[in-house]
Amino acid sequence: MYDVADVRAQFPILSREINGKPLVYLDNGASAQKPQVVLDAITRGYAEEYSNVHRGLHTLSSISTERYEGTRDVVRRFLNAPSQDEIVFNTGTTEGINMIAYGWAMPRMEPGDEIVLSIMEHHANIVPWHFLRERQGVKIKWVDVDAKGDLDPQAVIDAIGPKTKLVAVTHMSNVLGTVVDVKAICEGAREKGVPVLVDGSQAAVHMPVDVQEIGCDFYAITGHKLYGPSGSGAIFVKKARMAEMRPFMGGGDMIDQVTRDTVTWNAPPMKFEAGTPSIVSTIGMGVALDWMLELGLDNIAAHERRLRDRAIERFKGLNWLNLQGQSEGKGAIFSFTIEGGAHAHDISTVLDKKGIAVRAGTHCAMPLMEHLGTGATCRASFGLYNTEAEVDRLVEALELCHELFA
Ligand code: PLP
Repeated sequence: MYDVADVRAQFPILSREINGKPLVYLDNGASAQKPQVVLDAITRGYAEEYSNVHRGLHTLSSISTERYEGTRDVVRRFLNAPSQDEIVFNTGTTEGINMIAYGWAMPRMEPGDEIVLSIMEHHANIVPWHFLRERQGVKIKWVDVDAKGDLDPQAVIDAIGPKTKLVAVTHMSNVLGTVVDVKAICEGAREKGVPVLVDGSQAAVHMPVDVQEIGCDFYAITGHKLYGPSGSGAIFVKKARMAEMRPFMGGGDMIDQVTRDTVTWNAPPMKFEAGTPSIVSTIGMGVALDWMLELGLDNIAAHERRLRDRAIERFKGLNWLNLQGQSEGKGAIFSFTIEGGAHAHDISTVLDKKGIAVRAGTHCAMPLMEHLGTGATCRASFGLYNTEAEVDRLVEALELCHELFA
């Protein structure tokens, strides 16, 4: 039995008021709040156990190294990766995807080569490929979503041609909540011999992920959305791809030997982790993932399905609410505008006065917004601590917005 009251009690920030109203935090798609276990791990990490990792022979360095390296196995379990050596730490998905763009794609892509993207990608999974377009003449092939916001896996597979070197798709849209059948895409791409990168920034927060079952080559996650600290993240890189990848950044931990004329690399995954890493943030991410595993990823997903269903039900009564994305199995992420022309920023300001935090803007997904023919929207994105009563508070506040702006 999922006890949401007990879960909420573990997040100190949820008991604060905003503008005199109890906080309703619905901006989880941007970043999630942190449970006490993570806050304690951060404090302990700095107050009692801090030192650099991999370098010192002293006690504190051993403790930090053990905790930092221990996180690799937590991430492995969280994603069901075959080996912890296939987990590279970073500061988040943006860095993870850039690492693949520079380290794996750049050396093997020539002018005219293609990369297939869905129109639903976050800029973090677009801009690194634009670098390749600008600098190496790589062509980006876009696959659209349908009117409901669904991405047909076959359309992605059909877009793979003889010059395609990579498919890069999100597992869950940060705007529409659409869940993509990445397993089907990976199967089709594998038959054509093309690797697949999956942006799991949103999906891994809301559903169990099994990279072996999906069959992807790269799977990126970001710690701050997973109830961990900002500045933490990881990417799963299949062993065969790792062997093909050259280092993205140079310095510190990623080297074996450096002479005046030569350099040799540390063994993977450290070959891809240059300099002093986000030590305490990474340790905190491990604690957050362990905590989620303890709660049960299926339990979290079931709770969020209830929130989604409640929101869909309540939104049906608001015939002036323009909801973007009606995909059947979508996650609890809702982007909307209100008929009558109120700007998303104004709606979000009114909601904030009621203590409700949502995001307003184009959500780092401008190609999608253009495809949808919309400008800025408000986005309410739910997390594991939200409640059905909070859905109702959102609906009440939206009714007020409608009265104010209609
Ligand atoms: N991909 C998706 C789908 C996202 O929602 C986000 C963050 O909003 C990112 C990538 C980028 O993550 P980060 O900023 O943590 O690197």
